[in-house]
Amino acid sequence: MELTQRLHSIPEAKCKCFIPPLHYTDYEKTYWGVDTTNGRFAEITLEVCVHCGTKWLNYLVEYEAFSKSGRWYRGVVQDNNLKGIVPGKVVSYFEGLDWFIFGGSYFSSTGMYGKGKVQADL
Ligand SMILES: [Zn+2]
Repeated sequence: MELTQRLHSIPEAKCKCFIPPLHYTDYEKTYWGVDTTNGRFAEITLEVCVHCGTKWLNYLVEYEAFSKSGRWYRGVVQDNNLKGIVPGKVVSYFEGLDWFIFGGSYFSSTGMYGKGKVQADL
């Protein structure tokens, strides 16, 4: 299985919303969709930073029958990207980005930088 590639830094940490650990009070969060690919039922939210206005898509999946299976990925998104994305395309959108932030119990992490493969399936 391909793994998410870990990065040690990103070129543009211009606001606290780029720097994990992240805090929910820094975002306005709205429900955006559910990705049912492979029965994941991943919850996707659109989160707008209250400080700088950067928009993030957050993709959260966990498998209730499995402890430490929770993982999330979040990537910067522009309004013009959003029009072309449907829930089933969020993973491939993230996999095309130069970097994203990811974490969760599956990775024992409150957030780190990565790129490449999104490990959304068990
Ligand atoms: Zn910000």
